[in-house]
Amino acid sequence: MLKVAVIGAGAAGLVAARLLSAEPAVFAPPVVFEQAATIGGTWVYTDQVGKDRHGLPIHSSMYRNLRTNLPKEVMGFPDFPFKETSYNGKSFIFHEEVLDYLRSYASEFNLERFISFETRVEQVTPLSVGDPRSGWSITTRNLATGAAENRHFDALLVCNGHYSVPAVPNIPGLKEFQGEVLHSHDYRFPEPYTGKRIILLGGRASGIDISMEVSKVAKQVYLAHNQPPFPATLPDNMRQTVGIERMDGSEAVLLDGSRVEVDVLMFCTGYEFVFPFLSSECGVSVVDRQVRPLYKHLVHTEYPRMAFVGLPTVVLPFPLFHKQVQFFLASLTDRLQLPSRAEMTEDTVRDLQRRLEMGMPRRYAHFLGPLQWEYFDELAAMSGTAPMPPAVRELYDEVHVQRCHNLSGYKDKAFRITGPDSFVEVTDEVMN
Ligand code: FAD
Repeated sequence: MLKVAVIGAGAAGLVAARLLSAEPAVFAPPVVFEQAATIGGTWVYTDQVGKDRHGLPIHSSMYRNLRTNLPKEVMGFPDFPFKETSYNGKSFIFHEEVLDYLRSYASEFNLERFISFETRVEQVTPLSVGDPRSGWSITTRNLATGAAENRHFDALLVCNGHYSVPAVPNIPGLKEFQGEVLHSHDYRFPEPYTGKRIILLGGRASGIDISMEVSKVAKQVYLAHNQPPFPATLPDNMRQTVGIERMDGSEAVLLDGSRVEVDVLMFCTGYEFVFPFLSSECGVSVVDRQVRPLYKHLVHTEYPRMAFVGLPTVVLPFPLFHKQVQFFLASLTDRLQLPSRAEMTEDTVRDLQRRLEMGMPRRYAHFLGPLQWEYFDELAAMSGTAPMPPAVRELYDEVHVQRCHNLSGYKDKAFRITGPDSFVEVTDEVMN
């Protein structure tokens, strides 16, 4: 039986534990290392910013009023959908409700027995350097007692989360800017921005969501980004601008040469991929936000008994994690024969080349967005597992369009999946 370790007990680590434990004839009971005292990762909200009680950086980037930007009808794991009638029938639910869902998932599949809490993975090293069949030496530290421990495993799933370490672009003049500078990782609630002029840099989920939220209290909000402007009606005190070229005193100088005076600059510029526990012998590097050397954004091409779950961005996270874990577990058994190392490398080169030809910048190596459906279906076909039901894709795409046109109101809508390839928008009467 294969002994498999999992780093992290967020959504990705939980699905790994669930699928590993579903095959007791093939896999030994999984061992999940979690540095926090509880499951849920990102969905464990805290008012705190900076360091936690162990002196470690706060992991979660959750903010107090967050409601999901995806409807719960498509967000859940395929074998454990969100309860349709709960949450007052809403589709876009509060972060506490997602955490409750993850707790129910862990309880349904009895997963907590596999998790070592307050146990931080400090070092991972291949047991046999250069051997593609190598297992892993994992050193952990118990945060409560300080005790270190070393254990050996046949395979490893890295599920440490990718929304914790802020990516901050280099903006000339930033050091001299007299106002407040923060990253969305440290944003918790809007009140501190009451009456202020704030510019948020970045037009993806966090930039959009937080700018709408702070516009309720701020004097003026600028959402600065380099994508085509959203065709939405914005609050009177909010406007979209192009990106920031530099800061000059209390002004942001925009890429079109115009200037706006601001009190606060918030970076909504995403996160870095970091794996501080991987020793150099693991041979993993991050170049232009691409984790290398990976096949299908997942499997280490030189050490195929190591996989990284959840790297792709702009996706349906929970279903994707489920599919990635199914794929990796199939590759550990005779259900899936991975291509040769050279073929895996070629596939990755082709994948990046295709993105560049589509006009994406290099740092979009793990961006999926509209490419996620073919990615998902490819992993499903190769691992002999279920494809994505068309209704999920259709509802996801519909919500994407609605979000672009109606930033302030799209979360008031509710949906129901009515069949493998159909969904409906429901009215208040149905919800109540
Ligand atoms: P995490 O949830 O980050 O879990 C990683 C776990 O690994 C953590 O518990 C951490 O403590 C642990 N860990 C890390 N390093 C170590 C170590 N060295 N040793 C031991 N343990 C370690 N997704 C949606 O589907 N819908 C949404 O509406 C949505 N909104 C979001 C809003 C925000 C603000 C953010 C930041 C993300 C949002 N997401 C949303 C994406 C969300 O991140 C994913 O849904 C998912 O929860 C990520 O799960 P994960 O397991 O990959 O990572």
